[in-house]
This record gives sequence, structure tokens and C-alpha cells, in this order.
Amino acid sequence: MNTVAAGPEFVVERAEGVWLWDTAGDRYLDGTSSLWYCNVGHGRTEIADAVHRQITALDAYTVYGDFSNRPARELSERLAAHAPVDDAKVILTCGGGESIETATKLARRYWDVLGQPQRTHLISRTGGYHGLHGFGSSIIGMERFRAGYGPLVEDTSVVPHDSAAALEAEILRVGPDRVAAFFAEPVIGAGGVFPPTENYFAEVARICRRYGVLFVVDSVICGFARMGNWFGIERFGVSPDMIVFAKGVSSGYLPLGGVVTSGRIADPFWNEPGNPFLHGTTYAGHPACCAAAMANLDILEREDLFTVALEVERHLDSALRTLADHPLVAEVRSGVGVMGAVELTREALVDRGITTAEVFAEARARGVILRPVPTALLVSPPLVIAWEQIDHLVSTLAGALDAVAARH
Ligand code: PLP
Repeated sequence: MNTVAAGPEFVVERAEGVWLWDTAGDRYLDGTSSLWYCNVGHGRTEIADAVHRQITALDAYTVYGDFSNRPARELSERLAAHAPVDDAKVILTCGGGESIETATKLARRYWDVLGQPQRTHLISRTGGYHGLHGFGSSIIGMERFRAGYGPLVEDTSVVPHDSAAALEAEILRVGPDRVAAFFAEPVIGAGGVFPPTENYFAEVARICRRYGVLFVVDSVICGFARMGNWFGIERFGVSPDMIVFAKGVSSGYLPLGGVVTSGRIADPFWNEPGNPFLHGTTYAGHPACCAAAMANLDILEREDLFTVALEVERHLDSALRTLADHPLVAEVRSGVGVMGAVELTREALVDRGITTAEVFAEARARGVILRPVPTALLVSPPLVIAWEQIDHLVSTLAGALDAVAARH
């Protein structure tokens, strides 16, 4: 807030495909799909038309109790059919953080109705980002998001993101009969783009099964073709107990998220009396948001953006790797999904006082939007990006790095 107050805001006026225009009429390449969500690109009028049709027929109506609406039902069925989860059921929400609230509470409540109320502990990973609501802030793997709010949700802990052995050790330390669930992104996104180490998810799934811990995948960034499939985790051949999704499900045209759960988790709530899950929000299952998601999924399937994404992933990876030799760059992480990180050296950040915000600002002044995190610049373009646009993104980032290096 303080840095925004120091200068004029960057007001985005319109967008089309991978391009944005500001109020001055200047054009920018959207190298981040806004906040990792605009998978199909901007300006898709068929999504707008679907929303218009839906609001004209039914604006909104609650899905509490036995109320429902057609788009919510159709979307849930479509997602369940594609989810790598046994006997999948879907709970709809309004976004990623809200879905994490749902998944964390459902994990605890599931054990509660099964007569194991002591199973409350939630384990997550360093660098894991799970939104900033109450439970999300409590399991997030980045300390800076947790500080300053007093006590957060109790019974949580964070393990190194790259060690299945560390997860097992933590389960044993806490006591297997006290651990409710483990949360992991297929590729850590906002925390800096960290793909999993070899066999990580196969081992993690085995460990969770062994100790009866629910395995919850947060696919909010990785879903809906960003990793060439529906929920990202398919890439690693494991089947979780729950999948949290948002962002690319509607490409952000309207807010939407949700949780896919296995039938085993749904069962005690649906098939036994006296086990309510008293959780939900006013706009869950909003028909206009679901209609936007259905039109967005139509585009993903019709244009086969699943296959396209794998080609974009390869091209983005080889283009970003040309930056690995730059004197300011410590490491390039890419090649798993349409996302990448260019990590700056300690020498640049600490000794020379270069900030990622400065590189971000320089790139934006040159017409490319990146996402700065404390030590890296992140990219996650729309899946419809063309090869020459990827090259433009990467050469602009190189030029921005050169310009910043020359100033220090
Ligand atoms: N989970 C992951 C992996 C995310 O990247 C995000 C947001 O970036 C969230 C959850 C939270 O989603 P939202 O910002 O819609 O609350």
C-alpha cells in the first residue's frame, strides 16, 4: 500500500488474448495470466455470452439444502468425471482461499464424524501457498504471510517441500492418529515455482495411505490445462483424497472455486444421519459463475489447450533457460507446466541491493508484465501464447535485467 501510494496506479483498461492495454493506450504482454488464472486468454466473448444468457434466465439462487441450479449441477458432474479421485463429488465455492477453508474444515470434520476428533493436525509444505483466509494463512508455507495476526489456527506444521521422508518424520512426531491431512500443490506456484522432486508424489501418496492421513492436492494454479491435464496431479500418477481448484476453472472471467472429494469422504455425510457439515457461503454454486466455467471448459476442450499447453511448456522452458547464464540469475526453474521462475543471485539481491520489484517495473515499462516475489520473477502466461510472444517475453526480461544491472 505504501509503495502504491508513492506513485500512480497502473489502471488496466481492456484486454485481448495475451495483451492488456492501460488507460494511456499502451499495450503490455500479460506474462502472468493476471494472477495465474486467465488460461484461455482475455476477451473471449463466448464466455461473456454464456454469462449473459445465464443471468437473463436465472441470475442467482442459493444451493443450500436441496436447492440447486442447472449450471452448478452440470459443472460439478463435468469436473467429477475428469478428476483423478475415486467416486468424485464436488463442492463449489467462490475462489481458492474459500476452497482451502472448505477442505481443511472438511478434513477435520470427516475424522470427527468417524469418531476420531483428535485427528486435527494439518501438514503443509515450505513455499506452499494456500490463500490468505483463516485456515489458509495457518497452513501457508511462507512465514511472512503468517506474522502480525496473533494466534492462527492451532495444530498445523510445515515440512520441507522436497522431502517425502520429512513428511513421514513429521507424521510420526505428531502421532499418526492425530494427523488429519497433508496439503501440497503439484508444482509450488506463488511460492516460487518449484516442481516436485523425482517420485515425490508417489512416495507422499504411499506415506499418507500408510498412516491414514488424507492427501489433499491444491491445484488452484496447476489445474485446467496449465500442466497439460485437468488437475495437474495426474502428471504424477497418484489419486488424492481431495483436490482444491479455482482460477483456471473459469479462467477468472467470474470468481469460482471448489473442492473435489472422494466418495469415501462424502459418504458419512450423505449416507448416515446426524452428520451435518455446517459450512458454506452465500454465492457458492452461483449459476452465472458456473456458466462462465462451462464456457471456459468448452474452449479448453475444443481448442485442445491440454496438448497446446505441453508444447508451450517446452518452448517456454527452452526460452527461459537462455537466461540461466545472465550474471544476475542464480537459477531458472521451469519445464513442468506453463510456468517458470527466474531466481536472482544472492550477490544481486543482498550485496548489490537489486530488488525483483525493480526488475518487474523495468519489464513493465518495456511492455511485459511479470510477477515479482522476494527472490524471483515468475511467469505463467495464458496457454494461447504464441512462440514469438514467448520470445518477446523472455528477451524483454533479459533487457530489464541488463538495465537494472547497469544501474547498480
Ligand atoms: N491455493 C493456491 C495454490 C493459490 O495459488 C491460491 C492463489 O493464488 C490460492 C490457493 C488462493 O486462491 P484465492 O486467491 O482465489 O483465494
